[in-house]
Amino acid sequence: MAETIFSKIIRREIPTDIVYEDAQCLAFRDINPQAPTHILIIPKEALEGLQDAAPHHEQLLGHLLLVAGRLAEAEGIAGSGYRCVVNAGADGGQTVFHLHLHLLGGRPLDWPPG
Ligand code: AMP
Repeated sequence: MAETIFSKIIRREIPTDIVYEDAQCLAFRDINPQAPTHILIIPKEALEGLQDAAPHHEQLLGHLLLVAGRLAEAEGIAGSGYRCVVNAGADGGQTVFHLHLHLLGGRPLDWPPG
């Protein structure tokens, strides 16, 4: 896949507000937050998006969700509620083609999304 800005963030070539890291993923605050808490959780493995995930990514995808739940606890939004979003492809609103999970919370979130 073509390299994205998120690869540069993983390599620390672009400064970001990193909130969590482990062997499989990195989590950092979105540069254009849409809610008081807006964190992006990305796999270190360069995978374009959910639309490109294969069966061998099953553990990784589950890991990203588990990390989202832990970060929601750490952010103090687990009780009030939050949303995890994966934008996939052009119609899904994906703009950075490196798989990422948005963790949003800290305010009531509208449904359905636009
Ligand atoms: P998506 O539209 O789902 O592909 O989301 C991409 C997200 O990446 C957007 O919410 C952007 O605000 C965010 N973003 C882009 N560049 C950066 C950056 N350098 N640091 C943090 N977030 C970024």
